Amino acid sequence: MLTESEARDHVLSRLQPGALESVPLCDCLGRPAAAQVLAEVSLPGFDNSQVDGYAVRAADATLGATLEVSDEQQPAGQNKGLTVAPGQAVRIFTGAPIPEAADAVVMQEDVTRTGSTITINEAATVGDLIRRTGSDLCRGQVLVHPGQIFTPALVGVLASQGLAQAMVHRLPSVGILSTGDEIIEPGQPLQPGQIYNSNGPMLAALLAAQGLRGSPVRHCHDDLTATIQALEDLAASHDVIIISGGVSVGDHDHVKPALQALGMAAEVWQVKVKPGKPFLFAHRTQPRPLYVFGLPGNPVAVFVTYQLFVRPALLKLMGAAAPALPAVEARLMAPLENDGGRPHYFRGRLHNGCFTPLGVQESHALFGLSQSNAMTCVEARQTQKEGARIVVHPFAP
Ligand code: AMP
Ligand code: MG
Repeated sequence: MLTESEARDHVLSRLQPGALESVPLCDCLGRPAAAQVLAEVSLPGFDNSQVDGYAVRAADATLGATLEVSDEQQPAGQNKGLTVAPGQAVRIFTGAPIPEAADAVVMQEDVTRTGSTITINEAATVGDLIRRTGSDLCRGQVLVHPGQIFTPALVGVLASQGLAQAMVHRLPSVGILSTGDEIIEPGQPLQPGQIYNSNGPMLAALLAAQGLRGSPVRHCHDDLTATIQALEDLAASHDVIIISGGVSVGDHDHVKPALQALGMAAEVWQVKVKPGKPFLFAHRTQPRPLYVFGLPGNPVAVFVTYQLFVRPALLKLMGAAAPALPAVEARLMAPLENDGGRPHYFRGRLHNGCFTPLGVQESHALFGLSQSNAMTCVEARQTQKEGARIVVHPFAP
C-alpha cells in the first residue's frame, strides 16, 4: 500500500497542465497564472497630489505665511501645465498632476482661505502629500510570477496596467459519477435501507469552490455494465472523472473492473490513510488525456481524499507549479489518539490558532465535518496531548 505522499506524487507526476489560453481578467480569479507579467507602466505614472489642497513651494509654506492663490486650478484627469511662482499656491485636487516648481501639497484643512489668499496653518516640507512617479511599482518590474494564483488584488494590479486579459491554462472539465444501489436523489421518499446522495452535490460544491463547474452529477447502480457505460459516456466529454463509491473490494464494487474494461489499470489503489484507504487513480493518454479518481463511498472519506489528492491534482492541471496542502501551526485543544495502523486525519475547528476536534471521527459521520474547517494528521499508533503544537490543514479555499 502506498503512503499518502507516494500516492500524491504518483498522481501529480502523471498530469499535464491544460493548454494555454488568454482570458478576461474577471475569469482569472483563483487560477494560477500561466506566464510572467512585467509592468508596462510605472505607478503612479506621474507625480500627483494625495489630497485636495494647494500645491506650493515648501520653502514658501512656513507656519503663518500668506500665499497668493493662482486663478487657474489643477483638477484630476488632465495636465494643465501650470507652474507655481514664488509666493504662490495652486488649488489642486486628489490625483491631479503636480504643477511645475511645486514640491509639496498642503491639505485644504491646514490652510485658512481668505479671498484669493491662503494662510498656512501647518508648515510644509519638501515632498509632502505628493505621490511620486514609480513609488508603487516601476516599469519592467515583475507583477505576476508563473503559477501565482490570481487574487482580486492581482486582478486589480493588472487592470492598473491597462491589461484586460491574462494567460492561464484551460480549465479541466470534470465529470462526477456517484455509485450505489442504496443511493437516491433528493425529492424521492426514502425507502428502508436507502440514503440520499450526499457525495454528488458535495463533490460538485468542492469543484465550484475551486472555480470549476462540473456537469450534472451522474449516478449509476452497482452493475458492471452500467458502470462501464457511465464511464464511457463521461470520458467522451471530460478531462477528469471523479467517482464516489464502488472502489473497495466488495461484491458490489465495480469501478476497478469497469476501468479495466476501458483499458485503464488502477495505478494507485489503496493508500495508507484514514479515512480514504480505498482511493484509486487511473489515467490514459489516448485518444486524449483522461484522469480518473475513484474515491471511497463514505462522505468524510470523499472529502478528505479530495483535499489530499484531487484538489492538488486539479490545481496542477490548472497550472499550479507545486500544489501543496495548506498548513498552519496551531495549539491542540483536546487529546487525539490514533490506535490504528494508518495515519488518521482528524477533523475540527481552527480558530485563533487553536484546533478543536469536532464530532464523530468516523468516515460516514458528515455532521462533524460540516462544522469543521480544518484537519490534522496523527501518525499510526501515536497520540497528541492537549496543548501540543500541531500542524493543521485548513480546508481550502
Ligand atoms: P462503498 O465504497 O460504495 O462501499 O460505499 C461506502 C459507504 O458510503 C456506504 O455506506 C455507502 O452507502 C456510502 N455512500 C456511497 N455513496 C454515497 C453517496 N453518494 N452519498 C452518501 N453516502 C454514500
Ligand atoms: Mg457502493
